[in-house]
Amino acid sequence: MSDMKKAIVIGAGIAGLITARMLADYYDEVCVIERDEFPLDPDNRQGVPQSFHPHRVQPRGALIMEHYFPGYNDELIQMGAISSHDEQFQIANRYGTLVNKEDSSSFKIASCSRALLECVLRKRIQNMPQIGFLTSKEVTGLIVSDDERAVTGVYTKERSGEKKEEQIPANMVIDASGRSSKIIRWLNKIGLTVPEPEVLKVSLGYSTRYYKIKGFIPNEWVMSDSDPERGIRAGIFTRIEDDIVGLILFNAGGDEYPSTQPEEFQEQIKHLFAGDKIVGLMERLEPLQGPRGYRISESVRQHFELMENWPSGLLVLGDALCGFDPIHGQGITVAAIEAETIGKCLEEQRIQHEPQFERKALQRMQQAIEPAWWLSSVADMRWKGVEHGGPYELKGVTFGQKYINLFTKQAMKKADQEKDNQLFFMQFMMNALILPPSEYFKKEVLDMILDDNGSEEEMELRAELGVHDPDLFQQKLDETLPIFELEYDEQIKQLLESLQPAMS
Ligand SMILES: Cc1cc2nc3c(=O)[nH]c(=O)nc-3n(C[C@H](O)[C@H](O)[C@H](O)COP(=O)(O)OP(=O)(O)OC[C@H]3O[C@@H](n4cnc5c(N)ncnc54)[C@H](O)[C@@H]3O)c2cc1C
Repeated sequence: MSDMKKAIVIGAGIAGLITARMLADYYDEVCVIERDEFPLDPDNRQGVPQSFHPHRVQPRGALIMEHYFPGYNDELIQMGAISSHDEQFQIANRYGTLVNKEDSSSFKIASCSRALLECVLRKRIQNMPQIGFLTSKEVTGLIVSDDERAVTGVYTKERSGEKKEEQIPANMVIDASGRSSKIIRWLNKIGLTVPEPEVLKVSLGYSTRYYKIKGFIPNEWVMSDSDPERGIRAGIFTRIEDDIVGLILFNAGGDEYPSTQPEEFQEQIKHLFAGDKIVGLMERLEPLQGPRGYRISESVRQHFELMENWPSGLLVLGDALCGFDPIHGQGITVAAIEAETIGKCLEEQRIQHEPQFERKALQRMQQAIEPAWWLSSVADMRWKGVEHGGPYELKGVTFGQKYINLFTKQAMKKADQEKDNQLFFMQFMMNALILPPSEYFKKEVLDMILDDNGSEEEMELRAELGVHDPDLFQQKLDETLPIFELEYDEQIKQLLESLQPAMS
């Protein structure tokens, strides 16, 4: 191999594209290997079966992506995506309905199809001289050094024609090949045993139907929360480019998945918290495509960072490292956080060589994943039948659920009675992976929400808390919940500081 530093990214999904862009700051050559051919125009690909379903990026992910792809949101909006600044959102749950217009000073996010998002990101980096794409090529294994301690490249096979096999050398290989990643098999093949993963047996079902807008409808984004105790599904009504609306129905727990039959699907909409609202909007919509389902039996979080013999020259991110329940819209944002974390490690590596670079990077990525994994698991475990498995503890689930219930109730009450969206905004920022959970689960906030005059939610939370003296609240929270050690860069710090007045 020449002295040129070369990195390989396996997979050109969203995680692969962000990673390739990040690596271009550190490697002379970045080669993205993708098993699919790319469509010329935005279109779904066989290798990304989830792309049929609407994808929304959380503000934290959009911030990171704006750093690597400046102006990408504006480009999407120019291509017909809906700006969150022009959207009115409506949240409906068991405590009521909140209607809000996005504040134009808040961060702008474009609502569009996954195919358009992927196409815009890909075209940006296809023009970068350091980045090359090899398509219609499948990675089939890892090449290792003679002492088997380092990954030095990949084996590939063409997917058509002569199905030629090849070896491509590299200094760094990053697996971003998604849920169907073969990384475990490849690691086993080079003699490595992988720790048992953490698993959320989630048995979730999605069903999405698309509609064409016939006349005028306002730009609305409707999030109808689920209520697992009463068997009420979640629904999302989201407008994308080309006058199209996507409507998602969702539930977890494996009981009665949302229907993929048009009549049944229409019927199920009526039972959502925002059923009336959505049915009203539908008068101006015409069915276009679907409903089409998507099922996931397990969300899997690998713990490669525990491997003392993890090889140098190899990293894994995106859905290949940890998959999430899509209803929480975290996958792209977590992939962006992971790519950014690797970037920070590479930046530090420039200043001081770290011999255990890859393992340290995996450890830091795990810390970064923790809030998203814990929050989505806590939410999903409200569904009967959803279980956490593997030799890892998931701390504070019931406490977290009771706390979030009371918080949500108080947030909705404040918004409705006092026209004060402060608490609601705080919850939104945590779910957007900007506000650390430690800022939400803390004594000062607990003091604030524990004044619901003995409501069922308050009694349940007090019972979980088990202490009555407010001076002991913080200690109890620290003992009960996981420690969320998070690194924040300047941009997030500034954003949090600018939000403090609104949240204090
Ligand atoms: C129904 C559904 C809805 C979702 N909605 C959202 C949402 O609203 N917001 C959100 O943030 N996330 C959402 N997600 C999650 C999101 O799709 C992923 O988390 C995100 O795209 C990152 O995935 P990835 O790039 O790791 O994998 P993928 O997007 O799956 O990409 C993997 C790529 O690797 C390629 N590949 C696989 N194996 C090989 C190989 N051996 N050689 C070469 N190439 C290979 C594939 O062809 C593919 O292009 C949703 C997921 C599902 C299932």
